[in-house]
Amino acid sequence: MPGEPKWIFITGGVLSGLGKGIVSASVSKLLQARGLKVVPIKCDGYLNVDPGTMNPIEHGEVFVLDDGGEVDMDFGHYERFLGLNCRFDWNLTSGKIFKSVIDKEREGKFLGQTVQMIPHVTDEIIGRLGSIAEEEKPDVMVVEIGGTVGDIENMLFLEAVRQMRNIYRDSMLIHLTLVPVLDVVGEQKTKPTQHSVRELQRVGLDADVIIGRSKEKLDKRTKKKISLFCNVPPENVISDPDIDNIYEIPLLLEEEGLDRIMVKHLGLGSNGCDLGKWRELVENMKKPERRVKVGICGKYTKLEDSYVSIVEALRHAAAHQKAEVELKWVETTDIEKGECDLSVLKDVNGVIIPGGFGSRGAEGKIEVIRYARENGIPILGLCFGLQLMVVEFARNVCGLKGANTTEVDENTKHPVIDILPEQKKIVNKGGTMRLGGYEAHLKEGTLVRKLYGKPVVRERHRHRYEVNPDYHEILERNGLVLSGMNENLVEFIELKNHPFYLGTQAHPEFTSSLEKPNPCFYGFVKALLK
Ligand code: GLN
Repeated sequence: MPGEPKWIFITGGVLSGLGKGIVSASVSKLLQARGLKVVPIKCDGYLNVDPGTMNPIEHGEVFVLDDGGEVDMDFGHYERFLGLNCRFDWNLTSGKIFKSVIDKEREGKFLGQTVQMIPHVTDEIIGRLGSIAEEEKPDVMVVEIGGTVGDIENMLFLEAVRQMRNIYRDSMLIHLTLVPVLDVVGEQKTKPTQHSVRELQRVGLDADVIIGRSKEKLDKRTKKKISLFCNVPPENVISDPDIDNIYEIPLLLEEEGLDRIMVKHLGLGSNGCDLGKWRELVENMKKPERRVKVGICGKYTKLEDSYVSIVEALRHAAAHQKAEVELKWVETTDIEKGECDLSVLKDVNGVIIPGGFGSRGAEGKIEVIRYARENGIPILGLCFGLQLMVVEFARNVCGLKGANTTEVDENTKHPVIDILPEQKKIVNKGGTMRLGGYEAHLKEGTLVRKLYGKPVVRERHRHRYEVNPDYHEILERNGLVLSGMNENLVEFIELKNHPFYLGTQAHPEFTSSLEKPNPCFYGFVKALLK
């Protein structure tokens, strides 16, 4: 139908962890690079309304959107690739869908009917996707279905896709599978792909494009075989080989012709694919002229996924300065237990204190902060990082013995960090923090003002605690610069006479994209290179 968007559905087969989020982001990037407007959507089978209440160790980082939505880390990839502000309702979870169907049932919206998985739940999914399309008016909706085909979890989403493929004829399905190589025979094996395509067919879906994740590019023979068994032309079998740099994937998919296949299949008029700037940045990443090392001092350091946005923000900032950032993961629980000392920081050029919750590892972080402050080591504190920078400063510079955050010590004599007044009455844990984009007014002549180059900036938040206003004066009197404020709430702190000492109550890592690095990270990396 004219005027309607085209739909691309992306499913995954064989096993999870093939990088479906990156493939979806890359597919969207290719379309965007052809001048098309894309809206990326993610459907998740779990019953949580959002991932905000999940443990980052299990589920990876919780990504926060400007509108305050807490979403899956795939949205981080979408935004980093596309430079968009995604919206909370672009993440459909079974939790959200079921909750609204049951709420509607209680309101009497389905009076007289038996409320069922099909059509009521699937209608809810289709209705939501349709409304987003209507509101955003994109050229293409790119819908990633989480999980693996065959899981009970995502069946309803796949059924909705089946129905939608009949409503919207201009649609296409891209299926990502694994093509393993059996060491003994050294040959790419297509059987798992064949099985997962059967699994798709069982729920009434046919793939138009198959992307094979494999160690090396798919060879001709493999492509032909997949084509023969899976009902797709050989040119629609696309390689997705293992590579170190995720930002190279759009370039590889373009080389394989995926952008041409998509626009042709969907009948989209479009410009040529312009990935010039992207390619330049990827080249910078591949051939860095300088190297620096950053210590990330936190408590989930065994799993990079917990801090993925920080890692990516550092890479963006480095790519723009033809540099590479090497990471050193420093487990601050080990420092506070005395299992490792601060000499672990000897070989780093700077440290990041990431966001966090609870007392475990906090004293270790405070020790790192003191070391960085006293020894002129560049430091960037994010959210909990800023809060602990204030605790350290209060204790060791202002002489407020035992100063702490009430999150760690409820009875501290000097609650320099305290719960936000509006948070005191909140009991529900889901979606109730101070979430999303808020403005900060930056003071003239400060480091942040210079970094951002403007007086008002907007960054994203996810916290319940703040710098206690009763202590602003004593902190300032002792030399801490409260350089950015949202009314009476401290958003940025810094120190004069230090090469780079910056703390922010926000999470600037969430607004960094490859093409537009965040100024805090850009400035931090620049300081490291000095
Ligand atoms: N736990 C702190 C708070 O709730 C910091 C949160 C964070 O780092 N995201 O305020």
